[in-house]
Amino acid sequence: MQMNVSQLLKEYIGSTRNYNVDEVVEFSDDNDIRVQGGIRLTRTDKGILTQGKLHTEIELTCSRCLSPFSCPLILNIEEEYFPTMDVLTGASLPTPEESGSFTINEHHIIDLTEAIRQYIMLVMPMKPLCDKGCAGLCPTCGHDLNQGPCDCQPQTDPRWAKLSALASANNDASADS
Ligand SMILES: [Zn+2]
Ligand SMILES: [Zn+2]
Repeated sequence: MQMNVSQLLKEYIGSTRNYNVDEVVEFSDDNDIRVQGGIRLTRTDKGILTQGKLHTEIELTCSRCLSPFSCPLILNIEEEYFPTMDVLTGASLPTPEESGSFTINEHHIIDLTEAIRQYIMLVMPMKPLCDKGCAGLCPTCGHDLNQGPCDCQPQTDPRWAKLSALASANNDASADS
């Protein structure tokens, strides 16, 4: 996901550009994801600030039922990119002191791909769930309980539990009289 900022680098601090994003990004080997949203670039005193909200979906495996599912993610990007070459003179610039800083390459291109990968890692759920109410797998037979109960143990519907408790209480009362 590349944006040429050679013009913006020549402009005054505070100048902006808005980009609509709708691109396929390689998240990892054999895992391309579509990223959509908007990015605003702002000229800062040191470089270019990128800000924006991007939407994507990644394929995850549910930690309860082990089914693959598509997990929507929102990436709130805010990163400053520092030039490695002076846009006016072509002279190389010292690399930014802070290691791991994002840089604008010698062709004055900002590539958001690595930032997108890092933001996805940040917001990706540690214990992905296909649904908040995922019933998971039966610990005995491995049956996917989202598909209905298995034969391992009698399944009591919680709505009936109260009724049967009442019924047995009534039976007890009539036995006493
Ligand atoms: Zn699940
Ligand atoms: Zn079972």
